[in-house]
Amino acid sequence: MTDTLDLVRPRTDFLALEAEYGARNYKPLDVVLTRGEGVYLWDVDGHRYLDCLSAYSAVNQGHCHPRILEAMIAQAGRLTLTSRAFRNDQLGLFYEELCTLTRSHSVLPMNTGVEAVESALKVARKWGYKVKGVPADMAEIIVCADNFHGRTLSVIGFSTDPQSTSGFGPFGPGFKVVPYGDAAALEAAIGPNTVAFLVEPIQGEAGVIIPPAGYLKAARDLCTRHDVILILDEIQTGLGRTGRLLAEEHEGIEADLTLIGKALSGGFYPVSAVLSNKEILGVLKPGEHGSTFGGNPLGCAVARMALKVLVDEGMIENAAAMGGRMTAGLRAIGGGAVKTVRGRGLMIAVELHPAAGGARAYCQALQARGILCKETHEHTVRIAPPLVITAGQIDWALEQFAAVLAA
Ligand SMILES: *Cc1c(COP(=O)(O)O)cnc(C)c1O
Repeated sequence: MTDTLDLVRPRTDFLALEAEYGARNYKPLDVVLTRGEGVYLWDVDGHRYLDCLSAYSAVNQGHCHPRILEAMIAQAGRLTLTSRAFRNDQLGLFYEELCTLTRSHSVLPMNTGVEAVESALKVARKWGYKVKGVPADMAEIIVCADNFHGRTLSVIGFSTDPQSTSGFGPFGPGFKVVPYGDAAALEAAIGPNTVAFLVEPIQGEAGVIIPPAGYLKAARDLCTRHDVILILDEIQTGLGRTGRLLAEEHEGIEADLTLIGKALSGGFYPVSAVLSNKEILGVLKPGEHGSTFGGNPLGCAVARMALKVLVDEGMIENAAAMGGRMTAGLRAIGGGAVKTVRGRGLMIAVELHPAAGGARAYCQALQARGILCKETHEHTVRIAPPLVITAGQIDWALEQFAAVLAA
């Protein structure tokens, strides 16, 4: 009975409840969603939208993918959590399938993306002291300007975005910031105590910033030459989003530590992981790191199926093909409010002319036409639909973008 009553509440009630009781750390569009299927979302008033955000690329496989749902329900009725004090019959299979797919040697399972980042930073420091021989507490990690790696204190401590950092200090030492896309700056910053370079293959939150061709390859070479761990944060770029399983493949390189999350569970459950070669993760000994939920059987079962459908159903190839179609179509709109279009696979951004008056109004106009997008910063509209999108759906979306952006 309560369920039915909840469903008939008007949209404004939900907004009022959030305003009354919730922390105000988000400013969402005023759309209250209640159902999702594939590329579509429905609001409480029954309007249908094409999702062009995919929960920041966490639902690459499409909303409520039926095979992931089935795996989740089956596992939820069998065993959900044991803690790592005991073993479970999903974890080993998850490790094996993930390592085979990504050609990794070893996995550290966590939950949210930022926990994977934190874990990698801990591992890199430990490796620096135990293997590289850096003097105690002197380890240095190089990061990039305009990075986004999550919201914990240590991670925002090396953010260059004042909104992320202001009022949250003091922050821990041990990080050095270099410009993104500049291999010479990276080389100049590497010193005897540098243990790692942490970088996004494409900077998502910064506005889908694609570095110059050869940058990741150069970073790989520098890290190898100077005995520095290359950590690629593929939490957003990974798992098909850019038209490859991992974005590192575009430059034919392999990181020493690769971070994945978001779509690792197809949006069903927080699952993240640090992928590595044996030597690096091998520095962790029992008791030195952990997580109550990390590696739990429910998360593992969900992630196993989320990976399987990504590959089985050709979503990675589809992201490459549909991304090309979408980017070309957006570029063809030209004129109007559009300054530039950037994209790789289905990770796309339309940067608007500063005079166009801010991206949020355009997102609201798109919402009125049945498309959900989110602005990043002032002038950029990010477009990242689920990887199951079809050519017909892209073409329909392009008509809406043209109507809104060409005006
Ligand atoms: C989303 C994201 C994170 C943080 O993931 P959470 O699950 O929100 O903690 C880290 N790095 C990148 C590149 C991301 O896009």
